[in-house]
Amino acid sequence: MNAKNLSERLKTVASFVEKNTILADIGSDHAYLPCYLVHTGIITQGIAGEVVKGPFESALKQVRSEGLEKQIDVRFGNGLEVIEKTDNVQTITIAGMGGPLIASILEAGKDKLDTIETLILQPNIHAKAIREWAMKENWKIVNETILEEHDKIYEVVVLQKGLMELTEAELLVGPFLMKEKSSVFQKKWSNELSEWQRIMDQLNKTVESKDVQQKKEELERKIALVKESL
Ligand code: SAM
Repeated sequence: MNAKNLSERLKTVASFVEKNTILADIGSDHAYLPCYLVHTGIITQGIAGEVVKGPFESALKQVRSEGLEKQIDVRFGNGLEVIEKTDNVQTITIAGMGGPLIASILEAGKDKLDTIETLILQPNIHAKAIREWAMKENWKIVNETILEEHDKIYEVVVLQKGLMELTEAELLVGPFLMKEKSSVFQKKWSNELSEWQRIMDQLNKTVESKDVQQKKEELERKIALVKESL
């Protein structure tokens, strides 16, 4: 993968970016996503934020090697702290991390979100943490998709400001994805159901304790929610 030949996962994230928006890609690593967005004429300026030295240097190197220093500003810093008011950022992308980490980055950077219009988030796991954060913080899901690449399944959640009330099932599997019921969605949750059933079988062979009982109840609840969503 590189900035010109992007993964399907990042292309899907890119497909939600509005033309000419000012973008900040947080946790940008090689800055492939913002470089691709400039190359394809979707954005003209953006920020690539990174908190780890190695990926930060890879991003700098990539942006320089593509001659995009004027369009993409690579900044070193934790989460949304790389964004300044004067940048007038409208869209934030955060991709390739766990849902809880993405939610914690948004929570820690809440003061930077006032002027942001769209959050495009691609959690590798536990998208539920993002939906829970969004509902609590008055962001609503305006789009969602699910895709498979190299035997891995990814969700993309797009948020804009607004009120949203999700059921427990919608928080877990995603309101748009649940309606659409794509084959990838069915595959993801059938796999999860098999895994949870396997754990349940093991727990049923374990000596009963309060912890075991609690774990079984949690699993039963999740299994029921997913079954009703498929
Ligand atoms: N976004 C790219 C993608 O989807 O291919 C890179 C994903 S990579 C697995 C996650 C990147 O996020 C790493 O480079 C890591 O250093 C960075 N990261 C993790 N936590 C961060 C934070 N709080 N602020 C900025 N970057 C962060």
